[in-house]
Amino acid sequence: MPAGGEGALTLTVMMKVSPEPESEQTVLDLLRRYRDALNYSIRVIIANKALSLGKAHKLLYKELRERYGLSSTIAVGCYRDAIAIAKSWLRNPKRGKVPTVKSLRMWLRSEDGYRVKDDRMELIGGYRFKVIGWDRRYDNYPNREARLVFREGKFTLYVTKRAPRPARYAPKGVLAVDVNERQVVVGNSSVEQRVETPVERALRYRRLAERLQEKYSSPKYNAWLRRSGIRRRVRHFRRKAKNIIEDWARKTSHTIISLAKQGQLAVAREDLTGLVESLRKLPKGHRTALIMLGYRRLAFWVDWQAEKNGVPLLVVDPAGTSSTCPRCGTKLVEVGHRRLRCPNCGLEADRDSIAMLNIERRALSKMGGTLTSPTAPQMTDVNPNRWGEPPHL
Ligand SMILES: [Zn+2]
Repeated sequence: MPAGGEGALTLTVMMKVSPEPESEQTVLDLLRRYRDALNYSIRVIIANKALSLGKAHKLLYKELRERYGLSSTIAVGCYRDAIAIAKSWLRNPKRGKVPTVKSLRMWLRSEDGYRVKDDRMELIGGYRFKVIGWDRRYDNYPNREARLVFREGKFTLYVTKRAPRPARYAPKGVLAVDVNERQVVVGNSSVEQRVETPVERALRYRRLAERLQEKYSSPKYNAWLRRSGIRRRVRHFRRKAKNIIEDWARKTSHTIISLAKQGQLAVAREDLTGLVESLRKLPKGHRTALIMLGYRRLAFWVDWQAEKNGVPLLVVDPAGTSSTCPRCGTKLVEVGHRRLRCPNCGLEADRDSIAMLNIERRALSKMGGTLTSPTAPQMTDVNPNRWGEPPHL
């Protein structure tokens, strides 16, 4: 999602839409034909290396129109969609089987694929929808291409927009973010807040899914039962675990960015590449997978929200952030469970605060700013998951 050229941001606005009753069945039928056509196109494009629009058109257009009954505009959208999927599959060095699209979704060009006016949306071909709700903040920017998705009984239109990239303010200081598997520590030398990660909560759903799958894969249950309801529930639990992480990442990033904006601070986070690599070496478990997902999604949302809000962002080297003294750089010694002390200057704090302070320090030196005379950091633990009053910075 966060992409875009000079001075512009590409963003996606989600619109909940609902087809007029007389259109519903025909829209679903169209989406199914589109999916079959898309899967067929992906195979033809890969088999013939037809990655250009011209080649794909020649190989597919007639068939998409005649065999799948797609209109001219939708047929063009379909092979464009297929080219994009084929390209990303070909780029992946660890690619498995040729991808098959299972979901019901359709790519739509802005000029002739769909139209939104007030609370009405019309797809090419005269399919009419009511727009139920959307994010109105970007109404002033023209709609570009979109994707119509049908999932769990609901239709959503994802509309691409381009908005000017906001200018970044000159930061007065740094808000450092340290993530570990239990919590996120946000702060700097004068303020600190913590938020718990939802890994345990998400893990419960992953385990439920696992148990369900094990139980019903036994041959004493008939195939029908194994295939239908159970599979749906397993998928439901998996998705639920993922959604918990995603919601958390989005909300937490929002809080971090608001705090930074309030204090006109730059946000600094660690470069997570190394962290994710080291987790990858651990035995593969649901927990590790969810922690990795959490790190990645939080970094994604923090970066994106920073860009959208004009908040300066710094990514620092994570090496040794939780083992050296943030005041004098001396190697710290352990003095208790997750507590560390500096043998040189006497600073003592828990490992996570230390990491956060080191991130602040690295970010400040990256900014070329001078470190103000080091004062003993206040180490106040706040209730997890409670942000309380905005800090005075
Ligand atoms: Zn020290």
